[in-house]
Amino acid sequence: MRSQIANLLHKLANVVGGISNQADYESRERLDKIFMDFSAEVETKYEATLKEQSRRSKLGLLDATMPPQWESQFYLPQGYRVLVASEDSQNHWRGGPPKHEGAICPICKKPLLLFWDIDCNELRSRGNSTEIFGDLDRLPLYYCCRRPEPTIYQVLSINKIQTIRPELVSDEESPFEDYPNEFERKPIKLEPIPRAIENLLIIAKYFDLPWLNSDECKLLSSYLKEEISSTCDIHLSQFGGAIDLTQGRDVLKCPNKTCSTHDMGSPFSDDTFNKMKELAVIDVDSGFEFKSNYSQIVFHICWKCSTIHADYRCS
Ligand SMILES: [Zn+2]
Ligand SMILES: [Zn+2]
Repeated sequence: MRSQIANLLHKLANVVGGISNQADYESRERLDKIFMDFSAEVETKYEATLKEQSRRSKLGLLDATMPPQWESQFYLPQGYRVLVASEDSQNHWRGGPPKHEGAICPICKKPLLLFWDIDCNELRSRGNSTEIFGDLDRLPLYYCCRRPEPTIYQVLSINKIQTIRPELVSDEESPFEDYPNEFERKPIKLEPIPRAIENLLIIAKYFDLPWLNSDECKLLSSYLKEEISSTCDIHLSQFGGAIDLTQGRDVLKCPNKTCSTHDMGSPFSDDTFNKMKELAVIDVDSGFEFKSNYSQIVFHICWKCSTIHADYRCS
């Protein structure tokens, strides 16, 4: 029964923009209907309908096929656990000096820290959509630990990124301490998270840990190499899949002003085509060399222009 629920939640997340969009759409539609029924005159209703029809036909969305990369809540339906590897078998890396011209924080003007450096072709070759990451060969995951603002950038080529200046945050401090100027460069491997484990994580996340029986808790504890007694004990650095976000989900619009999603409209509301997708999370199990009074660094990606948005979550 529980695994059926988990499978259902996983499936829901993979249709029309994901669980939150679908719920958002349904509640808006219901509210709109109630509002219309109570407040509108017949002519007003008619005019509003015509206006909406014309808006949609101008956008060409009535018969539009949903872009596959937009449909899922997660950028990659398959999630991978990220582990430090003893040898370079997959050509994914962590750490090392910044490899891109432009990898400078627009706020503090210091070099960005390179966390993960992902081989996009290796992931395409594993049965993931060939559309992922546009025409990029590699996707670097950068973040500035010095400032509380998010780090935002678009990868322009194999050796150039363009940062986008975030809005300044004045009343917060960065939670990071004792981080080096660059992390030690080591190979990493992306290990597919088994569906049975993903189901347990989904149940623990959407319901609570008591929904798992003792055998399931043991299985999860042994997979995570950590004794799990509450959902706060779950730490899993992962790339792709249904990532577990400590402070819940965000609706982030693509911050790249030149991105074509801003002109696409949406079948549901005005902004869902430019909503970013959940891509990766670096959690305290990741083994990076700094004091962790943080919980997570979360990476979102625009499905269209591959702009990256990275921010931290406190525990
Ligand atoms: Zn900075
Ligand atoms: Zn975009």
